[in-house]
Amino acid sequence: MSDYTLLRERMVRETIEARGVRDPRVLSAMREVPRHRFVREHLAGQAYGDHALPIGAGQTISQPYVVARMTELLEVDAAHKVLEVGTGSGYQTAILARLARWVYSLELIGELAHQAIHRLRQLGISNVKIQTFDGTVGWSEVAPFDRILVAAGAPSLPRPLLDQLGPRGRLVIPEGEAQRQRLVVYERLARGVRRREADEVAFVPLLGRHGWQRGAGGPGRG
Ligand code: SAH
Repeated sequence: MSDYTLLRERMVRETIEARGVRDPRVLSAMREVPRHRFVREHLAGQAYGDHALPIGAGQTISQPYVVARMTELLEVDAAHKVLEVGTGSGYQTAILARLARWVYSLELIGELAHQAIHRLRQLGISNVKIQTFDGTVGWSEVAPFDRILVAAGAPSLPRPLLDQLGPRGRLVIPEGEAQRQRLVVYERLARGVRRREADEVAFVPLLGRHGWQRGAGGPGRG
């Protein structure tokens, strides 16, 4: 076993399982995806600690526990078409790609989107499509989605995302203030939508048309 495999095993046991993530499919995806390949080379040695790390353009790769927890809350299965908003490094995208049929991911910053496309290609992951676009308006050409995951902190749920969530769909989003949010799970039921709050988290802000407005009282980048 390589050093990275051992570090990853320890990360899963000590920070993810120990904090209560139980879904075996999520745990095995976390064991398989090489997180060190999603950060710059000089940070690879820190990739298996339970913290976010800078990925450039003022953005971060999410903390492993939070990636695992959000994925568990999303309840993805092998037939699902998933929309992700906020590709970032592409790490969460790779985890979703292990569990779902298709993953569509939107990233506002072109440079990050291109790097993520390149990484996923190098890892042989082929059931993902990434575009540079404001994800708060969703991806209407491929909607509806079985699952939607938002990986940036939103002031509230962008309406287009709810509209693009299919029957019995599930959506997970960090909602709240610029620096601190709470994970919220939305489920589309036969009648109406159920909303439930989960863990407290700290994501970078969701910008864009239905997110924070830069320079209009909302947070800046970083
Ligand atoms: N889960 C990712 C980290 C995401 S960080 C990882 O593990 O690497 C949040 C990302 O959301 C940032 O890259 C930011 O540029 C992006 N983002 C913010 N607002 C967005 C929007 N409206 N549409 C798409 N991406 C957005």
